[in-house]
Amino acid sequence: MSSTNTGGSPAYRILAIETSCDETAAAVVADGRRILSNRVASQIELHRRFGGVYPEVASRQHVLAIQAVVEDALADASVAHVRELDAIAVTNGPGLAGSLLVGVNLAKGLAFASGLPLIPVNHLEGHIYSNWLYTGSSPVSDLQASEDGNGSASDSARTQRSGSASDQFPALILIVSGGHTELVLMEGHCRYRLLGSTLDDAAGEAFDKVARLLELGYPGGPAIQAAAESGEAGRFHLPRPLMRPGRRTERQPDAQASSLPTVLPVRGEHRFNFSFSGLKTAVLNLMRQLEREEAEARQTQTASDIAAAFQMAAVDVLVGKTADAAAEFGVKQVCICGGVSANGLLRRAAEQHFAKLGLPLHCPPLFLCTDNAAMIGAAAYYRQSYAMARPPSPAGREHRQDAEAAAQSTPHEDPIELPARDYLALDVYASLPLVDSMRR
Ligand code: ADP
Ligand code: MG
Repeated sequence: MSSTNTGGSPAYRILAIETSCDETAAAVVADGRRILSNRVASQIELHRRFGGVYPEVASRQHVLAIQAVVEDALADASVAHVRELDAIAVTNGPGLAGSLLVGVNLAKGLAFASGLPLIPVNHLEGHIYSNWLYTGSSPVSDLQASEDGNGSASDSARTQRSGSASDQFPALILIVSGGHTELVLMEGHCRYRLLGSTLDDAAGEAFDKVARLLELGYPGGPAIQAAAESGEAGRFHLPRPLMRPGRRTERQPDAQASSLPTVLPVRGEHRFNFSFSGLKTAVLNLMRQLEREEAEARQTQTASDIAAAFQMAAVDVLVGKTADAAAEFGVKQVCICGGVSANGLLRRAAEQHFAKLGLPLHCPPLFLCTDNAAMIGAAAYYRQSYAMARPPSPAGREHRQDAEAAAQSTPHEDPIELPARDYLALDVYASLPLVDSMRR
């Protein structure tokens, strides 16, 4: 099936592959925004008994799953052969080396065999571009229809009210995942300035570790959110690291909403930085204190109250710092992304806050918050359009076919020169590619 964009010209279609951690994922994305297919084989059940991702088990599972996942993604998008597409994109970092290797090797093989360009994608840039994606023809309605997983449809409806992100810059991006917590000023497509990041644990890591302390299950983020639903956040007070007391106002009508603006970011060097390890230690100390008082910290109601108090503290910090940066840099839209952006309280608190300011807020639909390949296809398109020498062009497909036909009719004896794509390397410690490395 040929695919056209709204202008009637052939769409530029990318097959994207993501295997940076414990999700084996493949997707076909048209013109960087429209999801034609999106397959994710989750390894959650496999790692549950370890209470975290076991790297060797993850890479072995990618080896087992990858071929079927890619074939299914192609079939869902009605692509009979990779050659019908325009490019192949793959996450080459950051991530687990053994996991990345599986996706990168398959992508290289497909690119070499098909002659398609191969686009390496930074996983964090992928999360950012999850906000630019939509399914079907409408950026808004289809996303709401396709919600699944944890969190309520009304959360989604509120945060998706204004559809997926627009090309209005500067935009403020909060990346909150299992491995990263970063506040990024996006000055244009693929132009990033790092405003702040975590000094220790990532936000998702803190959710996972606190869930483990409370024995709430794996993965920790959804487990904390579920327990917090029946918890009383006000029973225990936990610190808001790198925040300071602010003006007291009446409590928000939503009992589960955050305590903003009673806390504000610290001034100075750490204004836009985060720290979550002290919050996790505060939970541990609270549990020890409860045990000294012969209360059972893991008793269901107490654990739910602690989970609710922790979740609110984390959300206060995340929304407080994002709101402060949005005001400081006069941004035109705010985007939240990464696994923790699936958190219902975070979405509600951010929505309440930015609606008051009249600032568009975007959170991806729940199925695009955690790792997926559609976001890699989107990021690849924008990187190729804005940051690489050769912009994407569906016309390249015809040129390639002509070149293939010419190559078949003229046998050549010269040594085969390997194209540059064969040297695409893993970048396991990659950080988001910045305009310059200076913080503002
Ligand atoms: P990474 O890119 O770091 O591999 P993901 O982007 O897939 O990770 O995000 C995974 C993280 O998101 C985990 O730490 C998980 O606990 C967290 N997470 C997922 N859903 C929620 C939620 N509803 N609330 C809070 N955290 C969540
Ligand atoms: Mg991720």
